[in-house]
Amino acid sequence: MENNNRYNHLNEYFKKKFGEKTLKICIDGGFTCPNRDGTLSTKGCIFCGNRGSGEHLNFIDIPSQVKNFFNSYKASRANKFIIYFQNFTNTYDTIENLKKKYDSALIDNRIVGISIATRPDCITEEICKLLNSYKNKLEVFVELGLQTANDETAKIINRGYKSRVFTKAVKLLNKYNLETIVHIMVGLPNESIIDIKNTINFINNHNIQGLKIHSTYIIKNTELANMYQNGTYTPISLEYYIETATYILTHINPKIIIHKISGDAPKNLLLAPSWNSHKKWILNGIDKYMRENNLYQGIYFN
Ligand code: SF4
Repeated sequence: MENNNRYNHLNEYFKKKFGEKTLKICIDGGFTCPNRDGTLSTKGCIFCGNRGSGEHLNFIDIPSQVKNFFNSYKASRANKFIIYFQNFTNTYDTIENLKKKYDSALIDNRIVGISIATRPDCITEEICKLLNSYKNKLEVFVELGLQTANDETAKIINRGYKSRVFTKAVKLLNKYNLETIVHIMVGLPNESIIDIKNTINFINNHNIQGLKIHSTYIIKNTELANMYQNGTYTPISLEYYIETATYILTHINPKIIIHKISGDAPKNLLLAPSWNSHKKWILNGIDKYMRENNLYQGIYFN
């Protein structure tokens, strides 16, 4: 690993892939989610906020969101960008509408990639074909919210699908060679390090390319907030998160790129844990822990 990095950093990976620093442009595509619109449930995952895990974004038409980004100071930070459809379930629509929405974001030749956040039960062969069609001009990434491999926890968090659905989705994405990034969470209700261990084993048995590790945080107006307020959920400590994230890093396949290792809780909505808004504490804490114990990504992978 380069630069004394203890794990595969996303920035380094993007530099290699695109030849220079490459940043994401977060977009709200105006989608909903089957776990929100009543198809599976109206409540959503217990931790999901009103904006579907993209609380900092507001929906205006897609090209305007992209234009606003390029007109802002953020555009001067790099020359290459990836459109990231972040909020809710970004493959949950007809193929025609998906194509229209994705195409409407591609309005600048500095855009070199497209990243689509979605649920495994919203991946079909047709969607894979559509995403595959962008590969002649863009890098394509698909992000799947797994959170845990434990189907009992999945019920508690109201995820709305079984883990075997994830396996099916990954197989389809593999068939079309679509780069797949998986989201997992540390600190879900009732979960211990054993569940984390099982989730990592489960992921290591799939052909995926990237991992996002999130700490579970509580934001206002969620079911998790109710559980926190009535005492049935206790947030994890920073120390526990650092140790558990390190466990994940040391046991995950060393080839996997780590896309994220901290939550990005919106400060105005965050109820707990308060350490979650101190990204540096998290990142530096993990680096320090790994350095002091001479640990690297995948050191215990087999
Ligand atoms: S799948 Fe995503 S958008 Fe849908 S309810 Fe769960 S966290 Fe929210």
